[in-house]
Amino acid sequence: MPLDLEIIAQSGDRPLPTPNEFSMPFWEAAGRHELVLQRCKRCETVRYYPRPGCPECQSREAIWEKMSGEGTVYSFTIVSRPLTRWFAERVPIVVAIVSLVEGVRMMTNIVGMEPESVYIGMPVSVCWDDADGGITLPNFSPAVANEDRELNSSIGDFGGIA
Ligand code: ZN
Repeated sequence: MPLDLEIIAQSGDRPLPTPNEFSMPFWEAAGRHELVLQRCKRCETVRYYPRPGCPECQSREAIWEKMSGEGTVYSFTIVSRPLTRWFAERVPIVVAIVSLVEGVRMMTNIVGMEPESVYIGMPVSVCWDDADGGITLPNFSPAVANEDRELNSSIGDFGGIA
């Protein structure tokens, strides 16, 4: 069994990331409900996922910068088969690639709406899913002008499909 699947099977639960020395600032900021990414100090390219070197110029110097949290759906799929028991009561879920206005694309979940209503190009805003183990995941929901994003932050909140 591949290592990743073995870990999931052992937990029998929700797969969650394990922060490492390169991604720790990202996850610490997520815990404060702030989306921060690395910006290269030499060429100013924003990068995602967190890593030690710039993919454009290979510089190892970067700053962590707060992102707008705004973007659009670049691509998505609706997942109906649960990978673990945790997902069994939560499918279908939307796994998406979101283009941030800062120019990088993140894999994430679209929450807070019916999966069938998601469309490519849809404006979305980051929202936060406080998961177990001190991990907070950045999800995205339909772009909103108010301060109530927290209400849409749970992965199960699009509801209604039994
Ligand atoms: Zn660079």
